[in-house]
Amino acid sequence: MTTIAFIGLGHMGRPMAANLATAGFAVRGFDLVPELCDAARAAGVEIAPSAADAVTDADIVITMLPAGKHVLAAYEGGDSPGLLGAARPGTLFLDCSTIAVDEARSAAALAVAAGHRALDAPVSGGVVGAENGTLAFMVGGEAADFAAAKPALEAMGGRIVHCGSAGLGQAAKVCNNMILGVTQIAVAEAFVLGERLGLSHQALFDVASNASGQCWALTTNCPVPGPVPTSPANNDYEPGFAGALMAKDLGLAEQMIALTGVDAQLGLLAQSRYAEFASGPGAHQDFSGIINTIRDANVDA
Ligand code: NAD
Repeated sequence: MTTIAFIGLGHMGRPMAANLATAGFAVRGFDLVPELCDAARAAGVEIAPSAADAVTDADIVITMLPAGKHVLAAYEGGDSPGLLGAARPGTLFLDCSTIAVDEARSAAALAVAAGHRALDAPVSGGVVGAENGTLAFMVGGEAADFAAAKPALEAMGGRIVHCGSAGLGQAAKVCNNMILGVTQIAVAEAFVLGERLGLSHQALFDVASNASGQCWALTTNCPVPGPVPTSPANNDYEPGFAGALMAKDLGLAEQMIALTGVDAQLGLLAQSRYAEFASGPGAHQDFSGIINTIRDANVDA
């Protein structure tokens, strides 16, 4: 039986680890927060006394941590032993956190230098996707390691794409979310402009959803209540995908734009608009709530 260590049992990690346990993997989890360990235990995950203990006998080590600095610190260790030093040689390290492409490449290089194998495998689909086992995985690393990880990924997700070498899973995630941030703002601006011109929300939706303006930000995450009854706009912008997470992901896009020197002005504009949105109550609202900021800014125009 494949033994999986699962480090980071937060909003995403707990249901992902629980799905692995349900699928029959031996799962040993750990989180720095004892209450989260208790919740994971109640969901069928065995809890180890420390992260190092969790990885000692593991075939696969999955990390689901807040940001790149947490992943690198957990891999390398500091005051406590690092995961790379505690694991058996040849262990497959699978980082599912959303981190920068260069950080993912550093993490993979550290793992390989320590005698292990490594994949970056960020996800989309949010907490609902994690709970339902329908996450989309974007994976970077060697083809043989991807094949070895696939049964575990299939226990947690639906669509699983091998994007290329180390870091390219994170590259796919950052590019996709840059499209999403830009299009959500574009759809919101179009609704506010339509309102000013006397166009009803439903009429604009009926036209654009069947025309070249069609996109996920319109047809699934419609930022006004009514046309798509399941969109967060109908539920006071309850996330969904929180503004803080969009701001984080566009911050990573900004870093990658600076690193590569690509002229991506709409991506940078979306980054600054979402950073502002997430500095207030927008942090905890669905990111489609940015339509209210756009409407408010146009109130006296
Ligand atoms: P979270 O803050 O709920 O969970 C992260 C957990 O890691 C926390 O419980 C924290 O205590 C734990 N942790 C930190 N350092 C640790 C260490 N050294 N050892 C053990 N545990 C440690 O965050 P989340 O919402 O579960 O997101 C996790 C990752 O997934 C992030 O990178 C996020 O960007 C990404 N993501 C989140 C969503 C979402 O909808 N929440 C969607 C897609 C991707």
